[in-house]
Amino acid sequence: MSEVVLSGVVKRYGRVSALAGVHLSVPSGQLTAVLGPSGCGKTTLLRCLAGFERLDAGEIRIDGTRVAGGGRHLPAHRRRIAVVPQEGALFPHLSVADNVGYGLDRAARRTDRVEEVLTLVGLAGYGDRMPHQLSGGQQQRVAVARALAPRPSVVLLDEPFSALDAGLRVGLRHDVREALRADGATGVLVTHDQGEALSVADQVVVLRDGRVIQAGAPTTIYREPADAWVAGFVGDAVLLPAVVEHGSARTALGVLPVAGTVPDGAVTVLVRPEQVRFSPAPNAVTATVLRHDFHGHDALVGLRLADGTRITARILDGDAAVAIGGEVTVHVDGPARALPVDATTGRPAAAPAPLAA
Ligand code: ADP
Ligand code: MG
Repeated sequence: MSEVVLSGVVKRYGRVSALAGVHLSVPSGQLTAVLGPSGCGKTTLLRCLAGFERLDAGEIRIDGTRVAGGGRHLPAHRRRIAVVPQEGALFPHLSVADNVGYGLDRAARRTDRVEEVLTLVGLAGYGDRMPHQLSGGQQQRVAVARALAPRPSVVLLDEPFSALDAGLRVGLRHDVREALRADGATGVLVTHDQGEALSVADQVVVLRDGRVIQAGAPTTIYREPADAWVAGFVGDAVLLPAVVEHGSARTALGVLPVAGTVPDGAVTVLVRPEQVRFSPAPNAVTATVLRHDFHGHDALVGLRLADGTRITARILDGDAAVAIGGEVTVHVDGPARALPVDATTGRPAAAPAPLAA
């Protein structure tokens, strides 16, 4: 178990600043997810941590000891850091047990450590199999077992589930989180998948353009995003221009209480679609139903407000009678969140488009 601290880490490739001054603390024994769109510097961050890249500025400390920066560059094999790549981590000609034991010295290989970590990842008894006899998900479990086996200071996971089917991913990420936890390992999971980051991590670090935009517990990132971009990146967001007066925001969705202490003036407010409710209430407003997307566990309803603003409501009852083109009354349940207004346009910063892997 180790604490990892990055201070002002800069890494350039030619003119590209892949990391533009990263400050980040990874608490011991926890799983930290680094979340950001493709190209934001996630893999570079892991490569700097692992010792595969030299820093251009800043430093990295593991348990207080500087491993990079200030003229020092501890080589990868001396950092006690294990990496689980996206795919293809296993030696095809070695059995599962030999793959897992690969990084262990002879004494450790004689102990039960190999079987112990295979059990942690749900593969007890699979030691004699060859990698090609395993499914993609099982192969990633072996890769995680191999990473854990030598009890590294930190386990780095670079989008380890992204090559797998969506259905398989959910169960696997949960199991891997439990395996790391049971072993007391410190983990850094890099992902562009907000659902993955929010559901498994103790801490989520949002990275954009080589900088940390926000770090916090998953609930904090979702409920109190630093700006409109983070709000839209980690979930569906209704973003409305608003004017705050005495702690209430005047919006197209009515006058809404605002969380926290917010000075009077123009803001962007965030409302999550699950806060938009279809029931008559004193402060309800009228909306026209534009579309209805059924998702099984819930449904998203597209609405147009009187002033033309389009918003989304999430309802649990997918059968609720919402005729397209019909009128409904909606109100907001719970406080809205005030976010900074984009200084250049005076409008909410645009939510990011959905990103491919
Ligand atoms: P992510 O893993 O978040 O998709 P990367 O860390 O791979 O992002 O890349 C961050 C930025 O650095 C991107 O602009 C990418 O094009 C650039 N980059 C990454 N590796 C190299 C490299 N070896 N040479 C030049 N540019 C690179
Ligand atoms: Mg990457």
